[in-house]
Amino acid sequence: MNVLVINCGSSSLKFQLINAETEDVLAKGICERIGIDGRLTYQPTGGEKEKSDKAMPTHTEAIQYVIDALTNAETGVVKSLDEIGAVGHRVVHGGERFASSVVITEDVKKAIEECNELAPLHNPANLIGIEACEKLMPGTPMVAVFDTAFHQTMPEKAYMYGLPYEYYEKYKVRRYGFHGTSHSYVSKKAAEVIERPYDQLKTIVCHLGNGSSVTAVMNGKSVDTSMGLTPLEGLVMGTRSGDIDPAIMEFIAGKENLDIEGVMNVLNKKSGVFGLSGELSSDFRDLTDAMNNGDKKAKIAMDVFSYRVAKYIGSYAAAMNGVDDIVFTAGIGENDDYVREQVCSYLDYLGVDFDKEVNKGLRGTQKELTKPGSKVRVFVIPTNEELAIARETLALVK
Ligand code: ADP
Repeated sequence: MNVLVINCGSSSLKFQLINAETEDVLAKGICERIGIDGRLTYQPTGGEKEKSDKAMPTHTEAIQYVIDALTNAETGVVKSLDEIGAVGHRVVHGGERFASSVVITEDVKKAIEECNELAPLHNPANLIGIEACEKLMPGTPMVAVFDTAFHQTMPEKAYMYGLPYEYYEKYKVRRYGFHGTSHSYVSKKAAEVIERPYDQLKTIVCHLGNGSSVTAVMNGKSVDTSMGLTPLEGLVMGTRSGDIDPAIMEFIAGKENLDIEGVMNVLNKKSGVFGLSGELSSDFRDLTDAMNNGDKKAKIAMDVFSYRVAKYIGSYAAAMNGVDDIVFTAGIGENDDYVREQVCSYLDYLGVDFDKEVNKGLRGTQKELTKPGSKVRVFVIPTNEELAIARETLALVK
C-alpha cells in the first residue's frame, strides 16, 4: 500500500509518498509560502527535482498540486489517487488523550483541536492539513501520528512539575515531550543493531536538530524526556533557550521593557546557539566555520550546547539506574562530529570508550562510535520520521 505522509506547518507542507510494504520512497517534496504566494518542490525517486511557483492561497491548493504532481502522466509516480491507500499525518500535540497513533474520525479531530492551546503554532496547521486532504481525497483513510504519544508512558514523577497540583487538574500543565516518533524509531533501530531485545534495554536518544531533545527509553518505553509542556524546555537549541532560571523572565522584562509575549519571543526565537553566538547563526555549519576561524562566541555556543546534552545524559543514566547505549540522531546528531566528541568527552565515567577516529568526519550514516568492548555503546543512527509515520499508518489501516 502506498502511504502519503504529510507534515503540515502554518505556511509549509512536506510530503513523501512511501510504498509502506517495501518501504521505498516513491516521491517527496515540499510546498512553501502557502498563504503568501506558493512554491512547489517535487522530486520523484530517480528523477529530476522540479521547482515551480504556484498560487497557494490555502493548504487545499497546496495539496491539490501535490496530488497533481504525484499523478502527472510524465513525472508522476502513480496513475491515480486510487493508488494511494492512506494518508499519515504528523500531529504535534496529542495531550493526554493519545498514547498511540489513531485513525482520524470527527471525534479525533475535535480532540486534536482541544490540544491547540498546548501547541498553538503547530496543531491548528496540522488540522488544516487533515481537512484539506479529507476534502480532496474523500474515502481515503487518514491516520494521525503524534509527537507526544511515545512519551505518554512517562511516570508521574517525571511528568509532574513542582507547581500547584491544581494547575495539572485544571489546565493539564505537565510535561509531555516531543519528537516521540523519532525517539521511538531510533531506539528500536538501536536495539536491532545491538541485537538485544528492545524491552530489556536502557537507551538514551539524543535527537539534535533545529529543535533538540533527549529521551530515556527503558525496556521499550519513554520514561523521561527533556522537552516539557512545550518544546521550549530542556536542551539549548537553535534559537530556543531550553532550561533557564524562571526568574530571568521577570528580570529581563524589567530591564528590556518587554511584556510576557516579548520575553517569550526572546526565549523561543532569539536565544539558544543563535543568541549565544551574538546572533551569528542557529545553523551548526555556520557556527563550526566561525569557531574554526577563531570566533569565541561561536565556540561558547557549541560548548554550552554540548555540555547541556552531556548533563541530560548523566541525569537519564541516573533515572534509569544505568544505560546500555546512547544514540545521536537528527541534523546535528547525525552530522556534527565536534558536538558528538564534546558530548562524549564527559562520559568516560559511564564506561563510554569513544573512538575519535571513527567519529571524525562521519556524516549521515549509521555507525558505532565506541571501541569494541566499550561498556556503554554509542551510535549514530539517522532518524526517519516519515518512514515511521508510514509504518504506523499501514499498521492501522491494514
Ligand atoms: P528539523 O527537522 O528540526 O528542522 P534537522 O534535524 O534537519 O532539523 O536539523 C537541522 C540542523 O542540523 C541545522 O540547523 C544544522 O544546524 C544541523 N546540520 C545539518 N547538516 C549539518 C552538518 N553537515 N554539520 C553540522 N550541522 C548540520
